[in-house]
Amino acid sequence: METEKLDILSLSLDEIIMELDSMGEKKFRAEQIFNWLHVKKVTEFSEMSNISLELRTKLSEKFYIKRLNIVKRLESCVDNTIKYLYELDDGNHIESVFMDYKHGNSICISTQVGCKMGCNFCASTIAGFRRNLTPSEMLMQIYLAEKDSGRHADSLVLMGIGEPLDNYDNVIRFLELLSAPKGRNMSLRHVSLSTCGIVPKINELAKLRTGLTLSVSLHSADNERRSEIMPVNRSWNIEELISACKNYIRDTGRRISFEYAVISGVNDSPRDAEALAGLLRGMNCHINLIPVNKIKERSYTADRSAVEKFSARLEKLGMNVTVRRTLGADINAACGQLRREYEI
Ligand code: SAH
Repeated sequence: METEKLDILSLSLDEIIMELDSMGEKKFRAEQIFNWLHVKKVTEFSEMSNISLELRTKLSEKFYIKRLNIVKRLESCVDNTIKYLYELDDGNHIESVFMDYKHGNSICISTQVGCKMGCNFCASTIAGFRRNLTPSEMLMQIYLAEKDSGRHADSLVLMGIGEPLDNYDNVIRFLELLSAPKGRNMSLRHVSLSTCGIVPKINELAKLRTGLTLSVSLHSADNERRSEIMPVNRSWNIEELISACKNYIRDTGRRISFEYAVISGVNDSPRDAEALAGLLRGMNCHINLIPVNKIKERSYTADRSAVEKFSARLEKLGMNVTVRRTLGADINAACGQLRREYEI
């Protein structure tokens, strides 16, 4: 069965070299295979036309190429956003979104099936957690979307379903594969990783100095309120989180982006803006305001004019702030919404 074979798309070039060596094959063969997988993005060994039939047969006995099927593809009528619903080989579903920005194409991918973090405004966590995604399943979301759309992803955001730092080892391996010079070769400077605030993993990530942009989902500067909407705050509170963020900025020299979903009557008062500015003042950071996306399981809404006022107030307080543009509003492009509709 597939499970006894090796998931070749999750292996580094060095690991493939070692495996091929044990099969009596030379290093350049491993490089050719790595190129087929990560540059030409084939999904079958039979497509590797410069590899002999005999070796292709041996490869398919020892390895398998991770399979993802596009089961739904929604293209926005208002912008060029494309949303993909993928089925995994165990029948689970995940989502990716391809976005077209002025400065290039960006893809948003999932890192887990479901999520255990329990943020109460987020559709991805409502049905709980099923499993972590493998490095190959993260890569395939990009490769299939690129092949299907004919577009090249210039940047990547880990902001789809799941908490990337709760699947730390697989996410780090995925990033190593994605940035491999002989593979997809995406610079990690073009990657943003969003976390709800798993402090020990932020500290671990800082030590790696990968160059990626860390986004931290803050959503409130008040511990009581944050714990209500984000249970993770009961494990690591705002003070612990901000202290880890300061260390991250010091160790990596990179600015942090704080995500703040503005929710009417919950976190959008003038006092909330002052508390937020007070908390982040002096840090090398940027605040990204997201008018909360309505999900059918919750009554949260965003008041557009309140979001503008909140933003203006933060600016007046000297903060670096932007309001996220809504892309793909007509195709339910927010986190986890498509998967939930499909599975119910
Ligand atoms: N688990 C990670 C990444 C996934 S969510 C994290 O928590 O950061 C990506 C971003 O979308 C996070 O900032 C998350 O809080 C936010 N988000 C989730 N549901 C939302 C909604 N309904 N409206 C606005 N933002 C939402």
